[in-house]
Amino acid sequence: MATVEGSKRNGSTAQAPTRADVLKPDYGSTRKHFIFTDDHERLRESVARFAEKELAPHADRWEQETFDDWVFPRMGELGFLGLSMPERYGGQGGDYYASIVLTEEIGKGNSGGLGMGVAVHTDMVMPPLLAFGTEDQKQRFLVPAIRGELIACLGITEPDAGSDVRGIKTRAVRDGDEFVINGSKTYITNGHRANFILLVTKTDADAGYDGFSLFLVPMDLPGVIREKKLEKLGMHASDTALLAFQDVRVPSENLLGQEGKGFYHIMWELQGERLISAAGCVAAAQRCFDRTLQYANERKAFGREIGHFQVIRHKFAEMATKIETARQMVYTTAWRVQNGEYPVREISIAKLYASRIAVEVADECIQIHGGAGYMREYHVERAWRDMRLFRIGAGTDEIMLAVIGRSYGL
Ligand SMILES: Cc1cc2nc3c(=O)[nH]c(=O)nc-3n(C[C@H](O)[C@H](O)[C@H](O)COP(=O)(O)OP(=O)(O)OC[C@H]3O[C@@H](n4cnc5c(N)ncnc54)[C@H](O)[C@@H]3O)c2cc1C
Repeated sequence: MATVEGSKRNGSTAQAPTRADVLKPDYGSTRKHFIFTDDHERLRESVARFAEKELAPHADRWEQETFDDWVFPRMGELGFLGLSMPERYGGQGGDYYASIVLTEEIGKGNSGGLGMGVAVHTDMVMPPLLAFGTEDQKQRFLVPAIRGELIACLGITEPDAGSDVRGIKTRAVRDGDEFVINGSKTYITNGHRANFILLVTKTDADAGYDGFSLFLVPMDLPGVIREKKLEKLGMHASDTALLAFQDVRVPSENLLGQEGKGFYHIMWELQGERLISAAGCVAAAQRCFDRTLQYANERKAFGREIGHFQVIRHKFAEMATKIETARQMVYTTAWRVQNGEYPVREISIAKLYASRIAVEVADECIQIHGGAGYMREYHVERAWRDMRLFRIGAGTDEIMLAVIGRSYGL
């Protein structure tokens, strides 16, 4: 029979219990979350192995040059680009949790920019292509994207309209069996390497929310101009483009989804983009925490490891609480998505909270490292720079707050 620790302490037990008999709290539980099965754990191991062996050795070079394109066909070969895509298109037929696993483990490649470039391809372009695409479009774009033979990018933001998607100016005008596209897009991840772009346009400037249409535009069409490689604070391994579209002619078969319903389609897409970004933030914050914990156990000041100062111990406790809270939000929201809901409020809350705490955690990790935290070789300054993006990309903090507030009818 199990005995509580107290009775043992009081010496009231006739027979001394063995260690295993003692009912005691578990401070180090490593049990996996209930959304994940053994298959997910095997996937986790194989993505982590790939990231550590095949990606991480290049991570420092990629910070200077952006990551190599071979990553896409290699990930296609391993089946990692279509984890939650149907098998009939070459995917693995997995669930949404498989996408979460990929996002969490790809970070072990030590390259935030790479994780983002891959996520744009797998979790921002592919889902709308699957949801709204014709069979012909799936064969032409989705199947080769899953194989990693075509690289995708997503074009929503413009120089004069980011948060305010309704204010975009890129126009697509019907001309017989074709549409003629004019406009520009900016901050486009994968914009320099991509073979095609999922492009948000206006097809009827007077129709308000019913005047938007999406197109799949091959990037080698005449009139598609990759104007500029943009320099940025973090995510250096990703390429970020300013693009121009000058009289680009696309056949009407490249219209994705319903003509005039593109605004609703892209708002649908943005929910997936936000949730996967939140998952990436939690994983990145955890990696930063782990790295810093190791440092705090090794670095000595005033004759003891710095982790044993109460103030530092409490910093870890605060960070762990934030990370765990964000993780539970992400997993619970993912569970709802997997079970057929698409809860905008909870996705927005998860995105807002996870991106905020990721930046806070990275900042605290720099502090715990002291001067080393400011140095490149310890990687925590890079984590801070990379994660800072998430309070802006896929919808800013302020837009998340607006969405959450509006969901209460305010
Ligand atoms: C590295 C990087 C990669 C990106 N990749 C892509 C990509 O692949 N594809 C793509 O389409 N876009 C991409 N983006 C663009 C990104 O989604 C936008 O930057 C973001 O949506 C914000 O738009 P904006 O930059 O125009 O800012 P603005 O909309 O000009 O906002 C400026 C400020 O005003 C605030 N604001 C705006 N409206 C409101 C409001 N109603 N209420 C309160 N505050 C408000 C914002 O929160 C922000 O603080 C990327 C951006 C970066 C930095």
